[in-house]
Amino acid sequence: MSEIKRELPPGVPTSLDLEAHLARYAAHSSQSRGRRHHEAPPAARTEFQRDRDRIVHSTAFRRLEYKTQVFVNHEGDLFRTRLTHSLEVAQIARSVARNLRLNEDLVEAISLAHDLGHTPFGHAGQDALHDCMRNNGGFEHNLQSLAVVDQLEEHYGAFDGLNLCFETREGILKHCSRENARKLGDLGERFLTGRQPTLEAQIANLADEIAYNNHDVDDGLRSGLIMLEQLSEVSLWLTHFEAARAEYPDIEGRRLIHETIRRIINMLIVDLIDSTNRNLARVKPESLDDVRQAPTLVMHSEEIAAQAAALKRFLFKNLYRHYRVMRMANKARRVVTGLFDAFTDDPRLLPPAYQARGPVAEESANDAAAPTHGSSQARLIAHYIAGMTDRYALKEYQRLFVIDNN
Ligand code: MG
Repeated sequence: MSEIKRELPPGVPTSLDLEAHLARYAAHSSQSRGRRHHEAPPAARTEFQRDRDRIVHSTAFRRLEYKTQVFVNHEGDLFRTRLTHSLEVAQIARSVARNLRLNEDLVEAISLAHDLGHTPFGHAGQDALHDCMRNNGGFEHNLQSLAVVDQLEEHYGAFDGLNLCFETREGILKHCSRENARKLGDLGERFLTGRQPTLEAQIANLADEIAYNNHDVDDGLRSGLIMLEQLSEVSLWLTHFEAARAEYPDIEGRRLIHETIRRIINMLIVDLIDSTNRNLARVKPESLDDVRQAPTLVMHSEEIAAQAAALKRFLFKNLYRHYRVMRMANKARRVVTGLFDAFTDDPRLLPPAYQARGPVAEESANDAAAPTHGSSQARLIAHYIAGMTDRYALKEYQRLFVIDNN
């Protein structure tokens, strides 16, 4: 695909200059393992900047605004959506990457794309879709994110998907079953050989955890599903809550909660940078290849990892298993299962644009990006449902099952 050709006047930075400050073991776009479809190098940005830009302009990215993790979209205007979650992940990941002289554009691209394949209604929706697909290769949201960027976005004349760099795709595929990894070629290799992805991918992975642990506490308190008093059993919370109160004895409510959470996020970021720096000093990688062969290098200190795990356990017990969350999850399961069954019984209920994609899905059944293809019709339905926002899924359910609704 042609990019704007331009003669660079002396002094204008090239992509090599833009990444000259990076550590030797960072992912440099000039050394990328490339894109699935060959393209001329971008004229005014690095390869990973181009990936980030393509992700921001994708349809799946805009849908994240109306998809949620714990709370369903219509439950309140102030809860995190997958879009704001992804922005928070990118913010945290960039802070860490810049400190470690790693590629900020790559961590940003991975962070913004990491949830593109999520179904409506968070984990409940995903579990339901996985159940529906159990005889057709199952449903893994990481693989679905990959399918979105490799195959499902229809934006470019020369190829399906966004044609992202190997390193961005690798970062998006955080987990993968061995069975699927075998079908993915070079992208799946590391799950079979135990090699690591780039440090940038490792950062995006932990930034995701830092973001959701903290914003779920915030949203949990905001919703009233968890109470401040309950959190005093979590040492990570208590330490920073008391520090905030000591510094500002007169504040309370949301302001005190935010003062606590910002301290926790800051401490986790600093701990991640320091502990990773210690690992880098010990292992002394000279290149990205050394990073791939080393054990995981981006990690928290032992003490902080244990504290973060305790917070996670608290959230699991008190928020994710709260009866009001379970009640909504149960409804979500009914909606996803109901939609899947209705489309399976009669595929003519699918929108014409999707019916027209049938043969395309058939052709791509062996596509490396879609290794879980069982029946291509079931996969097509899964793609359709996975792409829905919370409110679109509810609307579609009503259109299919409520008589006076069209
Ligand atoms: Mg996430």
